[in-house]
Amino acid sequence: MLCNFGRTKLLLFFIFCFSLSSAFADSPRTPIEKFGNLNVSGNYIIGENGDTVQLAGMSLFWSQWIGKYYNKHCIEWLASDWKCSVVRAAMAVNHHGYASRPEKELKKIERVIDACIEQGIYVIVDFHEHAAENFLEEAKTFFSHIARKYGSYPNIIYEIYNEPLKVSWKDTIKPYCEAVIAVIREHDPDNIIICGTSNWSQNVDEASLDPIDGKNIAYTLHFYAGTHKEWLIEKAEVAIENGLCLFVTEYGTTDANGDGPVYADETRMWWDWMDKHHISHCNWSVADKEESSAALVKGAPIRGKWKEHHIKPSGKMVKEELLRKHREMIGE
Ligand code: MG
Repeated sequence: MLCNFGRTKLLLFFIFCFSLSSAFADSPRTPIEKFGNLNVSGNYIIGENGDTVQLAGMSLFWSQWIGKYYNKHCIEWLASDWKCSVVRAAMAVNHHGYASRPEKELKKIERVIDACIEQGIYVIVDFHEHAAENFLEEAKTFFSHIARKYGSYPNIIYEIYNEPLKVSWKDTIKPYCEAVIAVIREHDPDNIIICGTSNWSQNVDEASLDPIDGKNIAYTLHFYAGTHKEWLIEKAEVAIENGLCLFVTEYGTTDANGDGPVYADETRMWWDWMDKHHISHCNWSVADKEESSAALVKGAPIRGKWKEHHIKPSGKMVKEELLRKHREMIGE
């Protein structure tokens, strides 16, 4: 009797262990495991499983000016400690960037891409240029290379024009985007491509009246909480009503110049609005510059592992939100 009872207990114990291990095996450990290849479906980004995806993360600073954080340890920290599901690599083009030193800047971007792939998070490959139409050949060369090398990875999101200035959507931005999209699509038929819009990526309403043909095209909306208020939300809502999929690839908690006070209430208003529409976002920026939008204090370690005293008020507030978004995503 005793012996049989012991066997039953043992059996129950094994069943318990098995179900525990399969429960762990089933729960995805990274955003890539959870969502895989992304697609644009109407206003939303959806994962392979059909779920609506809202990514949240950090943008690195201009690669030529604060390139020291473009390393695998920093990305590992942003993924593991800040729980970024996406990181944006902002490759400078003009101002001693890719246009004059292509090898040097490309190396930094590839380091970030490789690290994001290793961490199982998404990466926005951003052509960080305000007059990209003047660098069309550079853009074609760059994105052709990235698409050929990385287009098969679900991690890659292309941002082909950071913040166009006050130039025409129809005559300048749209033709530029179409030319770059064609080059990317030669090698990568499916990863999401994000286009900029005029007036520092604010005029998404204008683009929504004359959108680009093609699959998996999204549009970036940029805001700085101290400068951009309800009126920008209204423009964005026009774009959403007209069917665009928006992605806030860059926002700041401060004034549009990257400095000034941290506008906590206004930032929360934007976060609520983005949650309502499932819009993904990246905060500007991972930098130790002496301006309030920079997340880190001067001289913060370049390999991550930042302690509380390395993080400035904007960084602290954004990190807290990233942790909240992560809990929501993983369902903890
Ligand atoms: Mg692909």
